[in-house]
Amino acid sequence: MKVEIDPIQTSGGSYISKLSLGSHTGTHIDTPRHVFLAGKDVDDIGLSPFIGLCRVLDLTAANESISRADLEAKKIKPGERILLKTKNSINGYEQFIDNYVYLAPAAAKYLAELEIMLLGFDYLSVKQRGNPDNTAHTALLSQNIPILEGINLAYVNEGEYFLVVLPLKLMELDGAPARAVLLQ
Ligand SMILES: [Zn+2]
Repeated sequence: MKVEIDPIQTSGGSYISKLSLGSHTGTHIDTPRHVFLAGKDVDDIGLSPFIGLCRVLDLTAANESISRADLEAKKIKPGERILLKTKNSINGYEQFIDNYVYLAPAAAKYLAELEIMLLGFDYLSVKQRGNPDNTAHTALLSQNIPILEGINLAYVNEGEYFLVVLPLKLMELDGAPARAVLLQ
């Protein structure tokens, strides 16, 4: 979805801008409504998943996708906020890469079973591009686990951090842009 910004000068002499952008532009949160029409929106989810301790897992050794076995090795505990650092962070974001590293369906199901609080992923989507199997989204969002997409973890090492990522309070929507910060 194309981003357009039109500057406007008001009759009062102030400057404002008209923005045209998708709800999943740049760093953003997927809410359950992304895949379930009657699912929760940003307001329904509340702020708890978006503020608190998190763990960044270094999975940059994985080439094509993140598998269940990759995650099992990291001993994830229920209730954790989990941010996955993959090769995507290394490859960079200068141009869109079609075959980005994605979250395998079985890996998403595993995270949903574990009842993590939030999943962060370092590309604009967790699912494999062009694949009709949307399990990577549905497994998590059906359990009301929000997904933070489009984070850049290039300069972040594996470890524990304090996460603050606040989605814009856009009601009854499938997602919302957010600004994500990790504190040490
Ligand atoms: Zn999204």
